[in-house]
Amino acid sequence: MTTPSSFSSHHALRSFAKDRSVAAATLPKGIVRRVLRLARPYRRSIIVLLLLLAVDATIGAALPLIFRDIINEGILGGSTRIVVMLALVAAGLAVAEAVLSLAQRYVTVTIGEGLIFELRTSVFRHITQQPIAFFTRTQTGALMSRVQSDVLGAQRMFTSTLSSLVSSTFTLVITLAVMFTLSWQITLAALVLVPLFLLPARWVGRRLQTITRDSYGLNASMTSRMNERFNVSGALLVKIFGRVDREADEFADAAGQVRDIGIRSSMYGRVFFAALMLVASLATALVYGWGGVLAIEGVLDVGTVVALTAYLTRLYRPLTQLSNVNVDIMTALVSFDRVFEVLDLEPTITDKPGARVLARAPTGIEFDSVTFAYPTAARISLASLEERGADASRDDLATGEPVLRDISFTAAPGSMVALVGPSGAGKTTISQLLSRLYDVDSGAVRLSGVDVREVRLDSIRETVGYVTQDAHLFHDTIRMNLAYAKPDATDDEIRAALVAAQIADFIDTLPEGLDTVVGERGYRLSGGQIQRLAIARVLLAAPRIVVLDEATAHLDSGSESAVQAALDEALTGRTSLVIAHRLSTVLAADQILVLDAGRIVARGTHEELLAAGGLYAELYRTQFAEPESAAV
Ligand code: ADP
Repeated sequence: MTTPSSFSSHHALRSFAKDRSVAAATLPKGIVRRVLRLARPYRRSIIVLLLLLAVDATIGAALPLIFRDIINEGILGGSTRIVVMLALVAAGLAVAEAVLSLAQRYVTVTIGEGLIFELRTSVFRHITQQPIAFFTRTQTGALMSRVQSDVLGAQRMFTSTLSSLVSSTFTLVITLAVMFTLSWQITLAALVLVPLFLLPARWVGRRLQTITRDSYGLNASMTSRMNERFNVSGALLVKIFGRVDREADEFADAAGQVRDIGIRSSMYGRVFFAALMLVASLATALVYGWGGVLAIEGVLDVGTVVALTAYLTRLYRPLTQLSNVNVDIMTALVSFDRVFEVLDLEPTITDKPGARVLARAPTGIEFDSVTFAYPTAARISLASLEERGADASRDDLATGEPVLRDISFTAAPGSMVALVGPSGAGKTTISQLLSRLYDVDSGAVRLSGVDVREVRLDSIRETVGYVTQDAHLFHDTIRMNLAYAKPDATDDEIRAALVAAQIADFIDTLPEGLDTVVGERGYRLSGGQIQRLAIARVLLAAPRIVVLDEATAHLDSGSESAVQAALDEALTGRTSLVIAHRLSTVLAADQILVLDAGRIVARGTHEELLAAGGLYAELYRTQFAEPESAAV
């Protein structure tokens, strides 16, 4: 039902339609109770709000009665005193109404914004707690839309929907009661007109619900497209492949759909208003017509006729609002459901109860018969966030086949283990298992003899530091990027780290020094500089184990030796696991592990392995020997 045929060929909508919570008309049981539980801290504000709404509705209902008396008693009775007094009362009530509406709005938004704050922060916290596998499988844009539009959709329920439900009910009940006492015949006649707009309103309401859902999906897919194209590597890809025009066309396509659905949604929404205005005008004509006749016949007085027409809009507006309140609530519940779905994701990698903190002492590494397969989609991601269409290639990757089999080795505290092997052999995977970015399927990874699953995550992160090839720098100052490793680092400590990483001199040449903002992903720095900053960051964190992924690309010789010196500094006195690409590294390693297709096929020192021949000797010829001999 969410896929109008005209859109069915569009991919984004197709994948969005797979979204269980949006496509399905049924919401999980207990969702209302869960929403109410969220609102519980606001109980008092909600009671205040109800009181304000009730007073407001009463004042609103009193005004036409005052106008009636002004006409009947004042004007027709020829009493200036009554006219002036009642006019003053009306003015006073108008002021009171204005003040009340401000108070109402204040209470409503504090509830709404407070709620949105809590939902947003807990969704954010929850998402960041997800294992890395979750992020490799989930589109950023889809996640962003959970935090942004769905949370907003949920908030709307508390700000506009609920208060309009309550105020409409109050207004309707009071207005009807007063109108009936004024003239039950005319009131009944006015009510006869009700189906005239209620029927289209209900139909439009259902259409609007569908349109709103579709428009969420279209907006989300447009946002994730922008997300992917606007980051530096995406932008680079667009340019390299000369796709600027095609991208613009495709974007125009997506934006065009957002435009079309925006127009439809606006027009459908307008139908309510048009119907309301029409019926109100018809009813006014009716009341003046029939009421006028009754007034001439002396059945009704003039003031009552005027008061009755004044009540008409107070009757129809709440009726329109109430006729759609169920749609609004359902729509908001869909948003709540999508938010709850994120909150219900169990972070699979968390601290065990009673998890330990590692001693601040030299730490050894042990892999004990480790077998590991990347988790398949079903195991780690949100069913409804799974966009298979877009991610087909990744689906093929995580087949559940082990990428590491029976990996065993130990690294004594302070020693260096080098991992070598062809690309795809599993070197990076081993390095990620070390700090429990993933959990092993069988066997164990131990730090200082303790299974990493028994160690607190913050203790693991403190123990293991990473220098990766594509070190990520946030779009922020150099100081902030370094202090990310140690928030309370002083400038002196930062300087010391920069000196040790051989990059202090360069930073000094920058006009803004430590306050220089490094561009998104550090693109304004050279590869060697980024690496040295990453090393400085690790030095600042002072982990006891360093995982190093050596650059495959060769830096210019100046950078090369600076990086080498920085690395020597980073590795001394620490246990290290190095994904090696350089001869000097394998020569220095205490132990070299040769990996092929997820298995350790040979191990030993450089000389031993070279003598044994095989894969290592081949790697030595292709990877290690040449560039290094050129550099010597
Ligand atoms: P290396 O670092 O030796 O080049 P990796 O450890 O990166 O190798 O990869 C080992 C295997 O695991 C490869 O076959 C790769 O395709 C697969 N792989 C890596 N990352 C993922 C992932 N996030 N999901 C599924 N499979 C992956």
